[in-house]
Amino acid sequence: MSRYWSKLVKELSPYVPGEQPQIANLIKLNTNEIPFDPAPGVLTAIAAVKGSELRRYPDPESRQLKQAFADLYNLLPEQIFLGNGSDEVLAHVFQALLSQDNPVCFPDISYSFYPVWCNLYQCEFVTVPLAQDFSIDLTAFPAKNGGIIIPNPNAPTGILLSLERVRELLSAHRDSVVVIDEAYIDFGGESAVVLIGEFDNLLVVQTLSKSRALAGLRVGVAMGHVGLIEGLERVKNSFNSYPIDVVAQAAALASLEDTQYFKDSCNKVVVNRERLSQSMSDLGFEVLPSSANFVFVRHPSRNASELFGLLRDRGIVVRYFDAPRIDQFLRISIGNTQECDALLLALGEILV
Ligand code: PMP
Repeated sequence: MSRYWSKLVKELSPYVPGEQPQIANLIKLNTNEIPFDPAPGVLTAIAAVKGSELRRYPDPESRQLKQAFADLYNLLPEQIFLGNGSDEVLAHVFQALLSQDNPVCFPDISYSFYPVWCNLYQCEFVTVPLAQDFSIDLTAFPAKNGGIIIPNPNAPTGILLSLERVRELLSAHRDSVVVIDEAYIDFGGESAVVLIGEFDNLLVVQTLSKSRALAGLRVGVAMGHVGLIEGLERVKNSFNSYPIDVVAQAAALASLEDTQYFKDSCNKVVVNRERLSQSMSDLGFEVLPSSANFVFVRHPSRNASELFGLLRDRGIVVRYFDAPRIDQFLRISIGNTQECDALLLALGEILV
């Protein structure tokens, strides 16, 4: 605390990311990184960056990378917005599109950064309760709203809303921006990008952090109608002209080029997720149906925060949220085969 803080800063409650402990041999299943390295071409591209490129500022428009996303999704480059991780993209979305006269709406259980951005940008919000089975209840969103944002699959539940349901949501709220945060879509869902031509109120946000194994690089993207993208560019160009550095641009391009590697990595995660889900059910856990690279689980007779501590004692870090409705759940990222096995072994010992 300092007497020099602004009133706004005094009142902020910043987001607390999952810890990044620097402990050797720790099994880290708490922040949904994937357990495989990025495509080999990514490292080659980074090594090939020249000093003369670093000496200069990057292209403020990241035109090459926008073109690559446009080609990938059959869009125009003007329909692509890039940021330093999807967290930065989302922050701009809250400021540019979701700060309206009516409150923005999101599920009561969803990405816990959303209310933090609302506080930062002083936009009112209303949370909409998930259904009893933790799925998103589309009928619960009020007709009058200043925009809607949902993660799909939802985080931390992992539950997917089908493309048909996303279309229903968009049709029901034609006068509001509907943001679909697809951080985890590549692990089992169908992207809403295909609906962009049909709905000028749709903004799809994705990241290279998860399915492309580039959390350390910080590249996020928003895709939608040119008008929505222009609004985001106005905020970005009032904030930081160069969010995508030269290295990130080269590496992201290389990642987008290697489709086979990307698909193989996602498939391996899905195989491990299905095996882990089955084994955890066999251990007596309730496992919510996940389409993401994590599972959200609770044990009928064991306290979640206690399980969290017992796993940590055994060198396994998972994520625990001390929040209403979910304080008996653990969110566990899908690791590689050995990590999943170690987790199951530890749980087997803990639960005897
Ligand atoms: N959206 C959701 C739902 C997330 O879980 C995360 C990761 N914490 C992000 C966005 C942000 O990811 P990044 O900034 O790494 O792109």
